[in-house]
Amino acid sequence: MLIAKTIAEARAAVAQLRVERRCIGLVPTMGALHEGHLSLVRAAKTACDAVVATIFVNPTQFAPGEDFAKYPRRFETDCALLEAEGVDVLFAPDAAEMYPAGASTVVEVENISDRLDGQSRPGHFRGVATVVAKLFNIIQPNHAFFGQKDAAQVAVLRRMVRDLNFNLELVVCPTVREPDGLAMSSRNHYLSAEERQRALVLSRALRHIEARIAAGVVDSARLIDAGLAVLAEEPEIRLDYLRIVDPETLEDVADVSAGTLVTVAAVVGPARLIDNVLVPPR
Ligand code: AMP
Repeated sequence: MLIAKTIAEARAAVAQLRVERRCIGLVPTMGALHEGHLSLVRAAKTACDAVVATIFVNPTQFAPGEDFAKYPRRFETDCALLEAEGVDVLFAPDAAEMYPAGASTVVEVENISDRLDGQSRPGHFRGVATVVAKLFNIIQPNHAFFGQKDAAQVAVLRRMVRDLNFNLELVVCPTVREPDGLAMSSRNHYLSAEERQRALVLSRALRHIEARIAAGVVDSARLIDAGLAVLAEEPEIRLDYLRIVDPETLEDVADVSAGTLVTVAAVVGPARLIDNVLVPPR
């Protein structure tokens, strides 16, 4: 696996890959890799001839006071994991490489970026859209792989790809969970054993809503009430939102149908955690 620290090195490595391979897959990450990330790498390996992963803890998507400084950084372990998966190139720039002094252009996906996590984390999706647009321009992948776990991010990036005519296919991979249902996240590292136990209420609430939908309930308000009742079992968590929305616009829907997004965010101890499910076809 070739490790590129600069944009020039990454471009040269990708140009080399392109000589003999047609389809290049990109897997952007912030590192502290787990099976969720690796599932994206495996999907990219299956769909593409060559895989470029990136590790960059992007400062512009963290607001002041958020966890940028303490975000887990495990570069050596991550490299070994990516190497074992057969990743061809790892692009791991530092912040000065990605944002040289005077950088002043941003990508703002209007309206969607202010919903769900964007409402609670103003500016977050501007940072995400800007860095992902830069990665798309640097690597110029044919396919780019993202996790359904970050459903609002998927909506923002889908819209960006469409609006800015990026010549690539965005591939969304299912959420990978721990055996007990907790959605894998680098932020799970922040949790004590007790907090981790509390965090299970998120996936439990989603599963309860799924069961109500399977039983024929379509009214979002009733489903939210059912989910809130489960979330109330853990009064120590601070609920940010439980919403039932259109997966593309992230706007609330009155009734669920196939593909509707049921999504939750809560602060558990030191970690802000998110999780979601998509309503299956009937
Ligand atoms: P992050 O490193 O948290 O920025 O995540 C990098 C990519 O991995 C994003 O596309 C995430 O949606 C995806 N991802 C994170 N956790 C999971 C998970 N549990 N299952 C599937 N994809 C995930």
